[in-house]
Amino acid sequence: MRWDNLTRDDKAATPALFAADAVTTRTFDTPEFRGITFHEIRARSIINRVPGASRMPFEWTVNPYRGCTHACVYCFARKTHSYLDLDTGLGFDSQIVVKTNAPELLRRELASRRWTGEHIAMGTNVDCYQRAEGRYQLMPGILTALAERANPFSILTKGTLILRDLELLRRASRVTDIGVSVSVGFTDGELWRTVEPGTPSPERRLDVVRTLSAHGIPCGVLMAPVIPFLSDSPEQLRATVRAIAEAGATSVTPLVLHLRPGAREWFTTWLTHHHPRLPRRYDALYEGGSYAPKWYQRRITGMVHDFAAEYGIGPYAAGTHRNVPEEPDVRTDPPPQPAQLTLL
Ligand code: SF4
Repeated sequence: MRWDNLTRDDKAATPALFAADAVTTRTFDTPEFRGITFHEIRARSIINRVPGASRMPFEWTVNPYRGCTHACVYCFARKTHSYLDLDTGLGFDSQIVVKTNAPELLRRELASRRWTGEHIAMGTNVDCYQRAEGRYQLMPGILTALAERANPFSILTKGTLILRDLELLRRASRVTDIGVSVSVGFTDGELWRTVEPGTPSPERRLDVVRTLSAHGIPCGVLMAPVIPFLSDSPEQLRATVRAIAEAGATSVTPLVLHLRPGAREWFTTWLTHHHPRLPRRYDALYEGGSYAPKWYQRRITGMVHDFAAEYGIGPYAAGTHRNVPEEPDVRTDPPPQPAQLTLL
């Protein structure tokens, strides 16, 4: 593994983050971590600048983990595992890098005179509330450090573990602006089990939305990814938006599946196995590259916004202006959604 030549964490041109002698490798013989290898490292920096930030609704990120046991087949953070000479398929799901010093490092960087207190997005590369967080418990220290400095931040997650930190989120929300978004692309149970096999079910994620809202933390939903031919029928979109509305989400932002190199190969293998009639249709839909064509994206976005208006969600509630984006992959509809990197 290329531990000492890491210059692209979160695709940022940062200095090497850790040295080879700083890696401790562990496995845990408990059912939830069976088959997972953790690489504990002491990172050299933790606040990362997003390259090409002009296309993103955020410029700074904190990611305490790399790799993700949520194992979404379509995840395009897979590509970043190749920077470590790790496998982008099963390796991404089971070789997890843990920056064990993330809280203390963040505290130090936030205190630096060079830091000007800008918004920090979390969950933008991999999920900060993936299962590993149950063991390593890095997020409480991170949230505490941010709250102490009243530094605004946002979190995007599929992990129900975020509820463990509910009180810390409430405390932070009293001193600074925070944003929480949960990712729920569809509610089809069969599709969930095969394409997002390590994640909590969509229903449990929507329970997170419900619970956060009930405790005074507004929560949006990133409806991502909408998967062509598998979760994009009007009936499926309507059912998903209705469930999101019933959970009390403050907003819904649809995002059609991207298939960038790294994710594309893994997703295509999965598609061939589970839906052998679809690869040819995907080849046609994605013939232009990593994104579905704009007409398709507009169709999905328009339908989702119509359903959101019908069910009274956020800016798309009935009677308000409908905004169909030209570039759905980099949307900045309010509130800012930090998810466009990985389709969390
Ligand atoms: S999409 Fe998000 S939750 Fe799924 S594997 Fe990637 S980082 Fe993890």
